[in-house]
Amino acid sequence: MIQLIQGDITTLEVDAIVNAANTSLLGGGGVDGAIHKAGGKAILEDCMKIRNQRGGCGVGEAVITTGGNLKCRYVIHTVGPVWNGGTHNEEDKLRNCYKNLLILADANGVTSIAIPNISTGIYNYPKDLACRIAVDEVTKYLLGKKSKINKVLFVCFDEVNYENYMIELRRLF
Ligand code: ADP
Repeated sequence: MIQLIQGDITTLEVDAIVNAANTSLLGGGGVDGAIHKAGGKAILEDCMKIRNQRGGCGVGEAVITTGGNLKCRYVIHTVGPVWNGGTHNEEDKLRNCYKNLLILADANGVTSIAIPNISTGIYNYPKDLACRIAVDEVTKYLLGKKSKINKVLFVCFDEVNYENYMIELRRLF
């Protein structure tokens, strides 16, 4: 089941929420800042461990931590591409985010997951293009693999993303 909601991802009761992180995993602005603020220091501690083990998180990759004080068991951190005109493999990188975060969720027994609009804030990815990629990768993954994920929430914060997702999901379903 795919659901669309508008709101703050840090309030949701799901197995995992996704963070649009940066390669340092040390927190930042936007949804990243909101997740660390609401989730508390346990998330940052896990991020530091991952930094020490593997030096952070590459663009298009995903790593998993505790959900800390949040209502979710896990936070899955992925690093979206910075939009740079579209000629720097931004699309492949953004697709990799969705592929890898879903694989990592499944590997950890996650059945319900909430995903924000990766790269569409500070990283400036055009919202319409990012929306199509997100919906395409999630639907392909849920249809194509023996996934145990049975609930995906697309969580839009701003009106433009919400409208884009509404149109795209209505077009498909
Ligand atoms: P990026 O650096 O990947 O662009 P941002 O956090 O700047 O990450 O933005 C990603 C998306 O997350 C944006 O569409 C922004 O509106 C949205 N966002 C910001 N805060 C929240 C929140 N608390 N819950 C859900 N989405 C949020």
